[in-house]
Amino acid sequence: MPLANLHVKDLFQRFAQERQEALRAGEASGDLSAAASLEPLLAWFGKEEERSLLRRVLLDSYFPLGMVERTIFGNADGMRFFINKRRPELERHLGEELVRTARAFVRVRMDIEQFFDPGTITCIPIDGRRHPLPTDQWCILCGICCEIGGVRPEPPAGTCYPEHWYVYLAGGAVENQQLCPFLFQYFGGARFFCAIHSVKPVACRQFDEEACRTRVKEGGVHRGRPEGRVYRRSQQVVRG
Ligand code: SF4
Repeated sequence: MPLANLHVKDLFQRFAQERQEALRAGEASGDLSAAASLEPLLAWFGKEEERSLLRRVLLDSYFPLGMVERTIFGNADGMRFFINKRRPELERHLGEELVRTARAFVRVRMDIEQFFDPGTITCIPIDGRRHPLPTDQWCILCGICCEIGGVRPEPPAGTCYPEHWYVYLAGGAVENQQLCPFLFQYFGGARFFCAIHSVKPVACRQFDEEACRTRVKEGGVHRGRPEGRVYRRSQQVVRG
């Protein structure tokens, strides 16, 4: 099938897989700007402003491609519903969600630079270098606990968030949030980290090993399942 006829879900998945492989292999972030899979994806978007935003964000080594692939573009599978994201009528909505997610990511990146210390705000310095992730903890950084529709935006004592973070944390950065906008990915690997770990909300701090075990056991709505059946809209998980 010609690339121009592909669904945006397929265009995104082609790019995300290629990009994550390149990052894992250690390619420099700019090398992929000419990759065969990026341009067809960007061409799907009608506005130059959107293409330019996405070019910048999708090539950022911390953008959570793997989680976006799994949530926004992944089929949703609940107890009594299944949503096939390849449905033609969902295509426009998926594109909009990707743009909104990209905007939130850029804003969070800038906020961290402007209001906090990127060297200490999370478990590794956010400086584009491959600092080793922590291993001496129960959390394996799978990111599943951050597949949520929102969290009570209460900062830890002594911390003040930028005003819009209260909206972002509560799930207002996108229309039907399925992934916290503060979750970053580690260079295309299957490791995701909270970009604001040192100042994350109280509810996130209270999420402990036992809660993690329960969450992983329960699974989420984004699991693989044969496509074909379609029921109703995705459910949101809200923490706090
Ligand atoms: S604030 Fe951090 S820990 Fe809390 S849901 Fe978002 S990414 Fe996860």
